[in-house]
Amino acid sequence: MAITKSYYKNLLNNLHDGMLCVDLDRKITFWNKSAEHLTGFSEKEVLGKDASEEVMVHFDEQGRRKKETICQLGQTMADGKPRKTEFFFKHRQGHFMPVLARISPIKDSRQGISGAVQVFSDNTSEIETQRAIDQLEKQALIDPLTGLANRRYIDKVLDNKIDETHRYGLRFGLLFIDIDHFKTINDTYGHQAGDLVLQTVSNTMSNVIRSSDILGRWGGEEFVVVVLNVQEKQLAAVAEKMRESVAKTRTEYKGRQIEATISLGAAISKQNRKDTKEDLLKRADDLMYTSKLNGRNQVSTELRK
Ligand code: GH3
Ligand code: MG
Ligand code: MG
Repeated sequence: MAITKSYYKNLLNNLHDGMLCVDLDRKITFWNKSAEHLTGFSEKEVLGKDASEEVMVHFDEQGRRKKETICQLGQTMADGKPRKTEFFFKHRQGHFMPVLARISPIKDSRQGISGAVQVFSDNTSEIETQRAIDQLEKQALIDPLTGLANRRYIDKVLDNKIDETHRYGLRFGLLFIDIDHFKTINDTYGHQAGDLVLQTVSNTMSNVIRSSDILGRWGGEEFVVVVLNVQEKQLAAVAEKMRESVAKTRTEYKGRQIEATISLGAAISKQNRKDTKEDLLKRADDLMYTSKLNGRNQVSTELRK
């Protein structure tokens, strides 16, 4: 299988990265679910508090307060440069936890700096990553046939990402994908061959997308991809690339070469409060259906023709 450890690590990060935003006074304005999970502090407890003085005070591995890193957020807001830093902080329950944090400036519409965003993750070793992967498998978040994230997993990712769209304007793309005439493949070559096709198509698709994008099996011969930081045009290009490489892929089965194609629908999340996960999925699914009606092996998008 071409699906690698770094792929899983990415899935984990996407699900588990804590994220906070601060205003120019370093007061917390945004705190996501994963931040809550990683630190033990709820959004209610931290909003409006000073990020580095009151919530995530930086310590070294001996539990001594790190003086030099206190103002990393402040420094980034002053010079506009992103920073990466490692430190320990005190979990709500009292124990120290290692984190890796990436800080970036938030720019307003006139390119002035209006705050900073800090994304942080549990700074775990490879062994711990492996343990986390095992844990994921135990929690049944990975589809055993393809090794991809399963529907439950994608559901959680979508909840997080929709939340970030609403609160912070971070829009993302959603591709809904369905293999064409898959029943005919099963009927012609058998169910086992069908399973192999599902695996080759999954591998091809996972090699086309960026490592920060999340591909999952939605069910049967249906897949979804969460594509981060894209505009309609780029999303259409990703979808088209996936379509083309799947169409060129062959699954070798008992000396025969099985061809398969996919139909795709591409939609983008809207900041509008009323745009729910279900709305977004429906838009992508409807567009996928448009691709089917128009002859399959094609992409439909929200771009005007
Ligand atoms: P369309 O182009 O309209 O999507 O036609 P289709 O034949 O792909 O769609 P349909 O929904 O009629 O058939 C999907 C088939 O996928 C039916 C089901 O038996 C098969 N299938 C679902 N899950 C699996 C699986 O895990 N392995 C195999 N081999 N087949 C599966
Ligand atoms: Mg289907
Ligand atoms: Mg199908």
